[in-house]
Amino acid sequence: MPLQKRRLGKARVHHRRSAWAASFKKPAATQCPRCSAPRLPHRLCMQCGYYGNRQVVESAEQKNTKDTPETSEA
Ligand SMILES: [Zn+2]
Repeated sequence: MPLQKRRLGKARVHHRRSAWAASFKKPAATQCPRCSAPRLPHRLCMQCGYYGNRQVVESAEQKNTKDTPETSEA
């Protein structure tokens, strides 16, 4: 049976165990400063479509207001 040559250091063991434990954690969610919906850090908010202080994509509300008149007419 193979034997280890050297004992693993405290730091090496703790680093491995903390990295393993962190793999189960969900990514941190922050609040959107504009609509306070949960969003990922450094990502645009899918609720209002804003990243920082400018709108990048159409918000979910804008899409809903556009869709409703078309569906009601047809
Ligand atoms: Zn938002």
